[in-house]
Amino acid sequence: MRTRDPDVLTYESLGLRAAVNANGKMTALGGSRLSATTIAAMGAAGRDHVVMDDLMTAVGRELAAAAGTEDACPTTGAASGVALAVAALVAGTDPARVERLPDPGGRPCEVVLPKGHAVNFGAPVAQMIALGGGTPVEAGAANKVRAAHLEGAIGARTAALLYVQSHHAVQKGMVSLAETVAVGRAHGVPVIVDAAAEEDLRKWPATGADLVIYSGGKAIGGPTSGFVCGPAPLIAAVRAQYAGIGRPMKVGKETLLGLAQAVREYGAGAAASDGDGARARMERLAARLGTLPGLSARVVRDEAGREIFRTELAVDPARAGRDAAGLAAELAAGTPPVFLRDHYATTGRLAVDPRALSAEEEDHLARRLAELLGARTSGDDDTTNGRNSE
Ligand SMILES: *Cc1c(COP(=O)(O)O)cnc(C)c1O
Repeated sequence: MRTRDPDVLTYESLGLRAAVNANGKMTALGGSRLSATTIAAMGAAGRDHVVMDDLMTAVGRELAAAAGTEDACPTTGAASGVALAVAALVAGTDPARVERLPDPGGRPCEVVLPKGHAVNFGAPVAQMIALGGGTPVEAGAANKVRAAHLEGAIGARTAALLYVQSHHAVQKGMVSLAETVAVGRAHGVPVIVDAAAEEDLRKWPATGADLVIYSGGKAIGGPTSGFVCGPAPLIAAVRAQYAGIGRPMKVGKETLLGLAQAVREYGAGAAASDGDGARARMERLAARLGTLPGLSARVVRDEAGREIFRTELAVDPARAGRDAAGLAAELAAGTPPVFLRDHYATTGRLAVDPRALSAEEEDHLARRLAELLGARTSGDDDTTNGRNSE
């Protein structure tokens, strides 16, 4: 049990319960669990004043070092990163143009993207383009986009190409990022990559893309934040947007220092990342859950190719007494609420994502599933009711 200062608000003191997150780095569940040192950095930032432009620049240098780019600009998240990157390519650093956005004022403003990349990550990526003064132009079909489709959509009004590197995007039948970068080069059009949840910060800038966007609260495990990285002149144009459409997306000093701290720790930890250990952990969980009535379990790798292994649960409604969506809803309605990954619930599949799940939470999840499905697993005699279990 963690000790708490009685004067400090907690989720519990607002009548809420901390959630057991087996869903991944979900924005809807608050992104990431922060390290004690990241929390300390955010607290330290809160204690003093600082020249914010200098802090933005200094943190940008840290982020650029992590991504292997010339410069970087912090943002409130990857979503604002898309809006600000588009704005930078439409308006540049000219104050009159910056202040006129989202009206592009006759400047080239079309942003060409593969139709299968026009996703909704919680909000539509096309809307973030529009917020930055861009007009989204979707090339090809939802399940088939070739380089020639991108080329055909490029014209005198094109400001950028956008590539969404994400499990949200259609994976099959899509033009590759290498082909997209080649099209951009051939036509003199800059390429923006939304790599919000990607794990390797150096990989995507190294493709030759001009601006790459990451979320700070996903793979990096930092506070709710993000950044855009790339060559210095383009990043200067991204930063210039904080005197325009970026103003309602202002990043606070606490977030800036927390993001820098998290990125440093992420760089140190990434070298020691253990894909085999993560897979073995999920194999053990699959063996435990696969014996429950109505469930079959196997380990699957992330559909976007990241080094993430999950235990996938196929729910047989006849034997489980409810379908996958129903089971997920019952887990979420418990105390504490437990959230499984439910992207494929309509196909009868749920998944346990281990990234934000402690060993105790994993055990709670397994016991809760056994309770709901009316099975008994070894060592659960003391847990007759999920509401009492911790
Ligand atoms: C999560 C996500 C975003 C938004 O990221 P935030 O940091 O929450 O703003 C944008 N694009 C993609 C592909 C995402 O997965």
